[in-house]
Amino acid sequence: MVEGIKVLVVEDEPSIADLIAINLKHAGFEPTVVFDAIGAQRELDVEMPDLVLLDWMLPGQSGESLLRRWRTDPGTAALPVIMLTARSQESDKVAGLEVGADDYITKPFSSRELIARVQAVIRRNRPFVPDSSVVVGALKLDEATHRVTFKHHSLKLGPTEFKLLNFLMRQPERVHSRQRLLSQVWGDDSLIDERTVDVHIKRLRQALEDAANMIETVRGAGYRLSNTSNL
Ligand code: CA
Repeated sequence: MVEGIKVLVVEDEPSIADLIAINLKHAGFEPTVVFDAIGAQRELDVEMPDLVLLDWMLPGQSGESLLRRWRTDPGTAALPVIMLTARSQESDKVAGLEVGADDYITKPFSSRELIARVQAVIRRNRPFVPDSSVVVGALKLDEATHRVTFKHHSLKLGPTEFKLLNFLMRQPERVHSRQRLLSQVWGDDSLIDERTVDVHIKRLRQALEDAANMIETVRGAGYRLSNTSNL
């Protein structure tokens, strides 16, 4: 899904730059690392990346002033930019967002957070890429926007319930055992009890409001998502 997505990393601390590049590569992105504003501008002139990770404190021209310049140039005004700041520099975050950063990441950060934020900004900026939505009857789920609606009424789901519903909706009418749901939705994790599934099914039904009866319990077998009760 992320194949061919180019991420320009502007970071003067080699160890952090390397770490970011490795994580991005691992997640399937195509990172390019430069160490300062001049390198970043040179890179942009050759090929426009899909997203820039921009360190705030750079030698020479700062990340802030670079971003300010990009935002005034029609060619880069809409370029997705996530800035990297140090934990203590709260004022930098505010300034960064005011200048037009799409998001910020505070150092030190986990690789998980990094990838999640990069993916989120990419998604926000590519609203029409692959059709990520699934519809069963009047129930609609959209992966890209993380929205679920029933009869055009918006529903609020927790992250696990969202994943669970997503899975059930992709194979409607089929009965799934708790074990299958655990391995498909939670991933193979022997530490998780099968009763966890019941807990989240219950929460999912609550969250689905008027569509709750679409989640059917099949005695002795498991659960299924069915549209028949709403026909
Ligand atoms: Ca720096």
